[in-house]
Amino acid sequence: MNTAIRNNWTKEEIQEIYDQPLLELVYRAATVHREWHRASEVQVCTLLSVKTGGCPEDCSYCGQAARYHTDIKVQALLPTETVIAHAQKAKDSGSTRFCMAAAWREVRDNRDFDRVIDMVKGVNDLGLEVCCTLGMLTEEQAVRLRDAGLHAYNHNLDTSEQYYEEIISTRKFDNRINTINHVRKAGITVCSGGIIGLGETHKDRISMLLTLATMPKHPESVPVNALARVKGTPLEHNPKVDIWDMVRMIATARIVMPASVVRLSAGRIEMTETEQAWCFMAGANSIFTGERETLLVTPNPGVSEDMQMFRNLGLKPMENKKSESSCQVH
Ligand code: SF4
Repeated sequence: MNTAIRNNWTKEEIQEIYDQPLLELVYRAATVHREWHRASEVQVCTLLSVKTGGCPEDCSYCGQAARYHTDIKVQALLPTETVIAHAQKAKDSGSTRFCMAAAWREVRDNRDFDRVIDMVKGVNDLGLEVCCTLGMLTEEQAVRLRDAGLHAYNHNLDTSEQYYEEIISTRKFDNRINTINHVRKAGITVCSGGIIGLGETHKDRISMLLTLATMPKHPESVPVNALARVKGTPLEHNPKVDIWDMVRMIATARIVMPASVVRLSAGRIEMTETEQAWCFMAGANSIFTGERETLLVTPNPGVSEDMQMFRNLGLKPMENKKSESSCQVH
């Protein structure tokens, strides 16, 4: 019998899971994973930055914030045809999900949003699951995206409510929750997780998981990102995230949100194949891949490298199933 889905987790319970000896934790997570998912299948998503850089926000991990001096080239909103061509290529390479990211603080009701609506329709017509990450959204904007065929919306918590102000000052943790609620209300699936390696404590990580795992409905997709240390951002000199911290975080997410897709997201480029295998063992069952070998604006392994890893580990890409999850980013 499957482990039950619970939305009434306490901090102490999650802490107890998180603090287990690592091999016990991985064993338990792998067991839960097999109850709820086919452990040999990994969802392959492609992420395309449709508008890059120049963002007014001050997320201290992000190379796209206009205020930091990074090597990222600012790129205005891509033409719709270019985006559709990328989506077709992603589909041909085996992706079932296509996520479009725009470095905006929030969606505005202007011509750029009309163009994103056209992109969503076009990618949906290709039979791909469409995901967007565009910043804050109103309820009406979420409804427009849904009507255009949007399957999932990514809006990460980033970190704990308590640590949030240390990382971002231009918006509040509650703004994140409001957007997630608007997405949920519109009937779009939710993709929401966070980043480790920002300087947060273990308690912050547990607190973030608590927020996700006590939502009335768990996010269908939970990205777990390791900080990609972008030169020119305030966090560029943070220490590299320890692989066992990633494994511990993924395993705990897997146990407390058993039905969700847990995505091994940013930071994968710095992991060996063996380290990634540990993450899959701990319950990760989704990755981003990309023809340009970038995850938004930070490096990411390429498609052929990933497919070779799948062969080595006996994994295969998950079929498209529009009823389930989604993506990383904002
Ligand atoms: S994470 Fe998103 S909102 Fe924050 S600075 Fe980067 S693009 Fe802007």
